[in-house]
Amino acid sequence: MMRLDLLRSLPGRTDNAVLAFLVPKDNRQRALALRRIHEVVPLPAPVRAGKDFEGKEEETLLLYTDRGGRPQRIILAGLGEFAKRSEPSNRSINLERFRAASAAAAKRAAQANSTAKTLVISVPGGIGGKEKFPSSEEILVGVFEGAALGLYRFDRYLSEKKGKTKLTTIALHPDGFDPGNALKRARVIVSSVTFARDLANAPANEVYPASFAYRVKKTGRKSGFRVTVFDEKKISTLGMGGILAVSAGAREWHPPRFIILEYRGPRPVNEKPVVIVGKGVTFDSGGISLKPSANMAEMKMDMSGAAAVAGTFKAAAELRLPVHLVGVVPLTENMPGGSATKPGDIIRISDGQTVEVDNTDAEGRLILADALSYIRKRYPRGVEAVIDLATLTGACVVALGQYATGMLGTNRKVLDELKKAGEETYERVWELPLYKEYDHLLKSDVADVKNAGGRWAGAITAACFLKKFAGNMPWVHLDIAGTAILEEAAPYAPKGGSGVGVRLLVQYLQNRVGRKNA
Ligand SMILES: [Zn+2]
Repeated sequence: MMRLDLLRSLPGRTDNAVLAFLVPKDNRQRALALRRIHEVVPLPAPVRAGKDFEGKEEETLLLYTDRGGRPQRIILAGLGEFAKRSEPSNRSINLERFRAASAAAAKRAAQANSTAKTLVISVPGGIGGKEKFPSSEEILVGVFEGAALGLYRFDRYLSEKKGKTKLTTIALHPDGFDPGNALKRARVIVSSVTFARDLANAPANEVYPASFAYRVKKTGRKSGFRVTVFDEKKISTLGMGGILAVSAGAREWHPPRFIILEYRGPRPVNEKPVVIVGKGVTFDSGGISLKPSANMAEMKMDMSGAAAVAGTFKAAAELRLPVHLVGVVPLTENMPGGSATKPGDIIRISDGQTVEVDNTDAEGRLILADALSYIRKRYPRGVEAVIDLATLTGACVVALGQYATGMLGTNRKVLDELKKAGEETYERVWELPLYKEYDHLLKSDVADVKNAGGRWAGAITAACFLKKFAGNMPWVHLDIAGTAILEEAAPYAPKGGSGVGVRLLVQYLQNRVGRKNA
């Protein structure tokens, strides 16, 4: 991972750095920005005149200069157009411009065949004014996130790391303002997202239920949260029929686990715990309802919800957030085999409700049903919120693609808080209806409920199923199937596991803390 740092002054000629500046597209603002930059490093006349560089989104320009006392390699990266004040979520869009531009600058610096070890990004203070932009500290964190996460690669298994950058450090120079707590926050957030991405991208022969549990336990010891691991015997004793059914085909080689994470910060703002739940199917073949082979390899990432929970705990604990947080993660493989659960089988979830397994590929909801039942039983006096994250349905990907997480739930306050945090982090969530009229699609003739609702409204019927097990808890479900497993690269996430959910939930918790302390 990249080292992150803050600089009090800009690097000099001998510092072996690339120096980057972020430039807006708007003519007036760009002229102003270029004039400021020109005072620091002499820019060639065509650039200064705004001709060869327009400041568009994703536009970058690498310049070499021998004049002035600054590094010889200079990068200009376009911020694009800022949102108008009348646009919805304009501040979030503008903050995202900074993340995307710094990611573009970092990628340009990494591509350059240079020996520079440090990328320095100069961030001017007081941009635009408060009503259109988040605070300077938020912008600094965003610039760190964009650059560091933009350079993320999962290359552990490549013998020859092609195109590997020589950069080891990303340093920001806050020009004329107090960086606040930005460095600490950015370090924790970037390393936590990276942790989640590494878990998601690792193949299923490396990350399976026992090894996932081991890694989280190890991280918990280092970062300061507690991890309890139930093995299959305990799972069986607790009557978790959903987990037992899904793991039946894989039990011999990779038996299931059920882990409980707990973090209690200093003087927590919440009396009852906030509980986050993650679907941890470490490989989903579909089981007897086998998936087609095309793209089945992606299903090593069917534990992205679990990875997001683990990443959020790492961040919350390292930031010492004053919250009481509980995590519940059922872990299993879903495999066909002689002992596998068959379509038509009827199983019993730990709260006693029976389920007709109509389709063994609708397995995520079965293990989440046990997780939700466990929470209900363990906290009879209630919880502040239960938020589950799951790569649950292809239907959600059809509906929203990779740019929004599907959100459904029973508690308006939690839904609204997640919506806000989603915009602030640009891990945006979009609410789908949870009308009771959808419930009948899950009716079974032989059991209390069926695990598949048929062709239509698949993301919604999946949530209807979970609702039966969430009971009266203030519950929100996030379907991250499209946002966690990226089909194409995003500005600061390559194709594959995005680590979505970590930044969202950390922001949600931070807002929760902020409100209480305000
Ligand atoms: Zn499945």
